Amino acid sequence: MRYLIKTLGCKVNRIESEQLSEALDAQGYRPAAKGETADLCILNTCSVTARTDTECRRMIRRLIRENPEARIMVTGCYAETDPEAVRAVPGVERVVGNREKGRIHEILAGDAGIPGMVQSRKDISCPAEDGEGSSGSGTAELLERFGDRSRAFVKVQDGCEAFCSYCIVPLARGPYRSEDPERVVRQVEIFVRKGYSEIVLSGIHLGAYGADRRETGGVSKLLARLIRIPGDFRIRLSSLEPMEVDDSLVDMVTGEEKVCNHLHIPLQCGDDAILERMKRPYRTEQYADLVFRLRDLDPTLAIGTDVIAGFPGEDDAAFERSLQFLATLPLTHFHVFPYSVRPGTEAAGLDGAVPGKVKKERCRLLRELGSSKNRHFRKRMVGRILKAVSIGTTEYRGGALTLLTNNYLKASLHNPPKSLFPVFPVKVSGLSDDMLLVKVVYHDTKP
Ligand code: SF4
Repeated sequence: MRYLIKTLGCKVNRIESEQLSEALDAQGYRPAAKGETADLCILNTCSVTARTDTECRRMIRRLIRENPEARIMVTGCYAETDPEAVRAVPGVERVVGNREKGRIHEILAGDAGIPGMVQSRKDISCPAEDGEGSSGSGTAELLERFGDRSRAFVKVQDGCEAFCSYCIVPLARGPYRSEDPERVVRQVEIFVRKGYSEIVLSGIHLGAYGADRRETGGVSKLLARLIRIPGDFRIRLSSLEPMEVDDSLVDMVTGEEKVCNHLHIPLQCGDDAILERMKRPYRTEQYADLVFRLRDLDPTLAIGTDVIAGFPGEDDAAFERSLQFLATLPLTHFHVFPYSVRPGTEAAGLDGAVPGKVKKERCRLLRELGSSKNRHFRKRMVGRILKAVSIGTTEYRGGALTLLTNNYLKASLHNPPKSLFPVFPVKVSGLSDDMLLVKVVYHDTKP
């Protein structure tokens, strides 16, 4: 049986697809090679915007067209939030909710009548199919590999209870569930042993790590354990909410060698009235205090952010305030999204809709600002020594190796030495259009 898994959306989805893939391998399936048709297709969907939903439906149809004999299963956030729309696509055999995603291999084994496995779909609760919630955590086996790259993602948390007014994620992912710290340590140890040089800690709401386990210390306590794992590797944190970047986290990202000096802290809007309508639990002043403090502690620290353009009620004056505010901040990477109505969210019922054309123009202005900040940041790195990892042999082109620095910049290394340590220092000698140009510094040189 050949299988094909396609994944849309966030890092957590990618990790869950990897888990599924390992579980299928263990059951005797094998991944369809390039150009081969599959007997089983699984689409792991996302539902963050209306556009993603459309993309999911398009992808389902494509999978069906290109794999006419295959069983088609659809899982993920879109399958969870709108199972009817997924089921309505002719050819879809099963719709499996997020919380049962980790048991798809068991559902398949049950279908095949493998002893000890689930025997019928009645035996397993699929929230997307029967509309009922599930307490199943679907604890997955630890992964032995993560794609073929040097960076491995580790899921430490699932679920969100913040209910920002625009966001469908709490409905798609359910309440907070944190991974057992012992399992996280074991997972990171496996990846380090296998030679992965960068571990990215990921979660749907990473900053809420530990909240459901009644453990204090959250992400920073976990990090403190992970950096004690022996080996040459580094840890990067995925997105964290502004009020969750506490003093101990600040100390870690600005002072610990094994923790990348990079944070992604979503602002969403630089106007306080809109933040209130978004139900975001901080104001612009707090956000500015945090990012300036981080920048002052480490001028090479990368700070990314998310911005939504055209949230209901964002009139020209509010947008202008937001843009001006963002312009003052020491941010280095922008992710800009036009606001998208998500049925079932509070914001879907708000007045003050912003026309599509206006949203598009605001996105353009925000992206322009983000690019200029990123250019400025890269310029400031010239002459500095940064730490880097190589990001895959496939990117070895024309004698140049592509690297990723601790502070989240892509770099190009011409004529790389035959062997490199997993994490090594480089000196920034110049810039290309979108990359740093770097040279290796002797390994015994401490940056
Ligand atoms: S914190 Fe807010 S934006 Fe992030 S997943 Fe939760 S509800 Fe959505």
